Amino acid sequence: MIIDCHGHYTTAPRQHEGWRTEQIEAHKAGKPPPPRPRMTDDEIRETIAGGQLKVQRERGTDLTIFSPRAAGMGHHLGDASTSEAWASACNELIHRVCTLFPKNFIGVAMLPQSARVSPKNCIPEIDRCVNEYGFVGINLNPDPSGGHWQDPPLSDRYWYPVYEKMVEHDIPAMIHVSAACNPAYHTTGSHYLNGDTVGFNQLMMSSVFKDFATIKFIIPHGGGAVPYHWGRFRGLAQDAKLGLLTDLVLRNIFFDTCVYHLPGQQLLAKVIPVDNILFASEMIGAVRGIDPETGHHYDDTKRYVDQLALSTEDKAKIFEANARRVYGRLSRMIEKQSARGV
Ligand SMILES: [Zn+2]
Repeated sequence: MIIDCHGHYTTAPRQHEGWRTEQIEAHKAGKPPPPRPRMTDDEIRETIAGGQLKVQRERGTDLTIFSPRAAGMGHHLGDASTSEAWASACNELIHRVCTLFPKNFIGVAMLPQSARVSPKNCIPEIDRCVNEYGFVGINLNPDPSGGHWQDPPLSDRYWYPVYEKMVEHDIPAMIHVSAACNPAYHTTGSHYLNGDTVGFNQLMMSSVFKDFATIKFIIPHGGGAVPYHWGRFRGLAQDAKLGLLTDLVLRNIFFDTCVYHLPGQQLLAKVIPVDNILFASEMIGAVRGIDPETGHHYDDTKRYVDQLALSTEDKAKIFEANARRVYGRLSRMIEKQSARGV
């Protein structure tokens, strides 16, 4: 089985994002939001059948761990109440996709975060998504201000209510920023990769893994700058008298394979142990074009993993076994949803 641990619903029916625009406009005008739009099962089916499902089949992957569109989370917009309503709408839609295509998609929640609002307000949505929807993870935004970094670092006890819930439910968090509202950053270029790198650096210097021995984080987009600069982070850990970086982070931190060229993928697999690498493509997402050097889509990451000089057993870890281990509830959900799907 090939499990893609990083996919977003970037193709949702138009009225879904349309409502978000109206919601934020209403909030600015001090008015209540309009009623949520109707979306039929057929409309949802169409967006998936011609989109993510089609690409899964073309590329030979089986299951996507699926979450709301990351750039659309927009935690810097509105306030805590608009974030709660929007996260609720987005997660419900993911649940509908997973119900319509139970063999192909399993859900991960976006959180109703807001800049400078305690993430305690995310707890009810996490409980709801795990208990009612069967979601197996969360996306945690380390910078809800959208590129201005106004919240405490992930090392701060500020985030501990979320960490406690992650451990309680046995769900990992993918560290994933949303759109940048700071013009210095390009959302899916510098802001995403910066978010990954910052999140890793904050966690490695922290007491989080001492306080939560079993907690798990996935650093997406191949770990941002981390694998390429592994020597720098090893040296920083050593200078800070934190010990060996591998001992410090590799029980708790994992990297996905959203690296869009073979040399990058080779470096990831050379630097990071195979037990800490999870297959992912982030399709249909950040980079949609075809690489003229290969003739294939940049985000067709399975091709790169296939070409790595690793044993079949190691590739099976990257494609399947590691995801089942990191997402503690995944195997049970696969069984449950497979039994439902025809
Ligand atoms: Zn993503």
